[in-house]
Amino acid sequence: METLTMRNVMHCEVCQDSGFEVVMEDGRPVAKYCACLPRRRTLYYLKKSGLEGVLERCRFDNFQTGEEFQRRMLELCRGFVEQDERRMLYLSGCTGAGKTHLGFAVCGHFLSRGRGVIYRSYQQLMNEMKSALNSDAYEELLRDYGRADVLYIDDFMKYPPSAADIRHSFELINRRVMTQGVTVITSEQPLDAVIGYDEALGGRIRQQCGEFALYVAPGPGRNWRLK
Ligand SMILES: [Zn+2]
Repeated sequence: METLTMRNVMHCEVCQDSGFEVVMEDGRPVAKYCACLPRRRTLYYLKKSGLEGVLERCRFDNFQTGEEFQRRMLELCRGFVEQDERRMLYLSGCTGAGKTHLGFAVCGHFLSRGRGVIYRSYQQLMNEMKSALNSDAYEELLRDYGRADVLYIDDFMKYPPSAADIRHSFELINRRVMTQGVTVITSEQPLDAVIGYDEALGGRIRQQCGEFALYVAPGPGRNWRLK
């Protein structure tokens, strides 16, 4: 796979970075959006989020696999991008387990195939949804996040969720299920904990992920295990 750098992802031979392509239709030149637009938009948002360069740093090919749990994590994520029956990936475990690195590597994989990616921290999403509540902006948010080719939700339920968090999360997850987009979730909370907070929400995520849900738990003496 081609290494993702800002330069080679941004540069497009077809439109010479104009974002438009001129095609002939019925003998007339017509300007159309170029196929590079989704990845162009993705990089714009990543840059805006201060995450410029993160896709260069977080790749499958530079993920450390010195430990068994790391090899298993990598294998699972590679397996996820090679299939399309399951559209949701849930990576959980302590800080330092490498889940965010792999979350971005999965996004980079889809991006390099021309798919658009939106990255948000869970807290950002909840704040946006709460401040849009009871206005048209709420439905617009759901629509935008719903139709993203790939939505990466980072730090899912970092703190015990409020009833409102649960409700908004459910709306969002449901929308992702309906639109069949790819959703990547990373969290310090295992799915069991999410199910403990809300059975319907956790159950829905588990059902969507199938085998693509993973928890790296720290054991005694930093022996890790996968669940
Ligand atoms: Zn282009």
